[in-house]
Amino acid sequence: MGTNRGSRRVFYALLSAFAVLAFSSAVGTFADDAKAAKDSESKQSFVVQVEEKNAEIEFVKIGEEPAVATIRVPGEKDVVFDAYEPIESAPEFARKPITEAWEKLGEIPKKKIKVEIDTTQAPDAEDWAKRVQSRVEYWYPKVVEMLDGEEGLNKIPDDFKIRLVFKPFNGVAYAAGREITVSSTYIKSRPNDYGLVIHETTHVAQAYRRVRETWAMEGMTDYIRYFVTEPRSKNTWRIDPKRSKYTDSYGVTATFYDWIIREKDPQFLHKIHNVFRSGQSVETFCQNEYDKPMSALWDEFVASLTTQTKQED
Ligand SMILES: [Zn+2]
Repeated sequence: MGTNRGSRRVFYALLSAFAVLAFSSAVGTFADDAKAAKDSESKQSFVVQVEEKNAEIEFVKIGEEPAVATIRVPGEKDVVFDAYEPIESAPEFARKPITEAWEKLGEIPKKKIKVEIDTTQAPDAEDWAKRVQSRVEYWYPKVVEMLDGEEGLNKIPDDFKIRLVFKPFNGVAYAAGREITVSSTYIKSRPNDYGLVIHETTHVAQAYRRVRETWAMEGMTDYIRYFVTEPRSKNTWRIDPKRSKYTDSYGVTATFYDWIIREKDPQFLHKIHNVFRSGQSVETFCQNEYDKPMSALWDEFVASLTTQTKQED
């Protein structure tokens, strides 16, 4: 691998700092906003005082991450509340101010969808299912907007419904049409892996008919998961300059895309979305659009990793 642990840590710190920037690029606000995000991480925060209980609620939103509310009541433990959590689970006195703050911060999705859960084949998955239900409600419209803009959002039918089915099987999860099936066996061993549902939700939004370069598609899906919807989890994908390839798919390809979006083309995600939609090849698109094969871009990306880590040593 050739890099020491210290330099790698610096590299991942850099990656997470850029995650927010990558999102603003992806949504289509592009270059100027991306630059602003790079400078400030577009952090918004404010505190609301609630007379009842003498409480205060601090709201923080960084870039396009879901906003966070910290509810502080004197003499009680702080309660942290994420924008995707159902408002009913917040303490009653805090619901109104939180809803108002979410409106202000643009956290209430522009389109409301229905998410139905079915745990008849795995009753023990019910709590977990409820926890991801609101995440899917929150992220689906946002992912659609990111891929297809306002127009895509307007095309979501009013009765649009995603079904989440839980059952025991060997494997993780899969999406077919508007149905996502999650292995109740898997979530028992990885109870914090809520992001897997966002990966599948992204597949529902992509709705591609036929994809030959599945590695390229899975890279995009994981880009949305790791670099857009959960930047607070700090991306941990490691690129081995000697062994990794851009066709490795999932997190490796996602990390490569993140670099392309930051360094080459803020519209990359939107563009390859259209490539997949029209059943064409991402490799061919790359050659036509950037005048070089994807492998050449990958080499540049790998070279940039070395430079970044060297600079910090
Ligand atoms: Zn997938």
